[in-house]
Amino acid sequence: MTGQNATSQDTQTQESQAVQSDSPERELYLDAAASDAVPASVIEAMTPFLTEGYGNPSSVHASGKTAARALDAARASFATDLGAHAGDVIFTSGGTEADNLAVKGIALAQIRRERETRAAAASASTPARAFTPASASPHSPAHRILISAVEHPAVAQSAQWLHDFFDFEVVRIPVDAQAHIDLNVLSREAQKGATLACIMMANNEVGTIEPVSRAVRICHDAAVPVHVDAVQAAGTIPVDFRGLDADTLTVSGHKFGAPKGLGALLTRSRVAIEPIVSGGGQERGLRSGTPNVAGAIALAVALHEACAGMEERNAPLAASRDALIKAICEAVPGATLTGDPVNRLPGHASFTFPNVNGEALLVDLDARGIEVSSGSACAIGRHEAPGTLLAMGLSETEAKSALRFSFREPLHHTDIRRIAQALRASMTALHAM
Ligand code: PLP
Repeated sequence: MTGQNATSQDTQTQESQAVQSDSPERELYLDAAASDAVPASVIEAMTPFLTEGYGNPSSVHASGKTAARALDAARASFATDLGAHAGDVIFTSGGTEADNLAVKGIALAQIRRERETRAAAASASTPARAFTPASASPHSPAHRILISAVEHPAVAQSAQWLHDFFDFEVVRIPVDAQAHIDLNVLSREAQKGATLACIMMANNEVGTIEPVSRAVRICHDAAVPVHVDAVQAAGTIPVDFRGLDADTLTVSGHKFGAPKGLGALLTRSRVAIEPIVSGGGQERGLRSGTPNVAGAIALAVALHEACAGMEERNAPLAASRDALIKAICEAVPGATLTGDPVNRLPGHASFTFPNVNGEALLVDLDARGIEVSSGSACAIGRHEAPGTLLAMGLSETEAKSALRFSFREPLHHTDIRRIAQALRASMTALHAM
């Protein structure tokens, strides 16, 4: 459900919503890509593990075992819905932490390998000049991170951190005007060697679905492991971790109906990762800290519900998205859809608007009960132009005029009409048309 704006396949609910949507008071929440409501079923499933089954899953007594069994079951279900094995799942505090763990953890493992090689060679009293220089010097093939130019800051800033503290070279792979990664450049750069390549599955700002499967093959042909940020994809479009053959993959619970502050990194054992949170060695030693059992159950149940309804939901969801795009482009001459018009997330419509600042438009729409976003939730308040749009070649002014409408259930036609009318009214109020 998309909070206040959700419609369901249940006719009764649709009828009551159609009546509701004529009410000027009702807010239309169109920011599901930022966060969304937690369904009652998810709260119901997790609550017993806050109130009764509250034991620490590492404890050996009966309460601990109950919690451990629940955690195991949640992990197994969660893995199945992502095409993964239970042992692939490292629960984290969200998408940001999972991206940090993948990017920093894989690079730090590389540094550890090099240190161990040096130490082994030193103890065998091999002369230092006999080492392969490429394995130890900064900017060697082993010290490069390839990232698409449209990665989320959780990935881009982790790569930047590796540059700042360990002198890794960060290579940004360009995208085209619809935000698709340039696979030719990726191939060229991968062949030069790299510690890791990061390619998101679906873009948060413009909704474009990236050619990740081809990107993984290109990188693997060059022996470069791949991290996939699937935060906007999981629970919305199918994600098959093992089928994709990615090395690591991030998901975030609050994008598909779990509470905020919950996520996971899926990892293959073939890729070495150093933990970035040290402690008691939980989560295969990759994420110490007492596991959030109730949170893991929320993740598993929310994901399962999102995946179970996906096939039935996505055609009407995409149809309502296309109706919204048409209505907005008709209501506001000069409004331009951003991202791939077809191969995009089914509940994601993003635009630039002429002669207006996106934040001003957002505030005016909010006053009319329409809640949207001006791009990435992370950039809001900093008055920054959305990075994806700049990477796609838009000017700063164009990028700053952007708005994103995102929803997880099909929009009712009365809602679409209301959004288009409100946009037109806002544009007029702001003297933009
Ligand atoms: N990656 C992408 C593509 C995102 O859209 C987001 C959040 O919007 C994140 C990572 C960060 O996830 P979280 O909010 O769980 O930290």
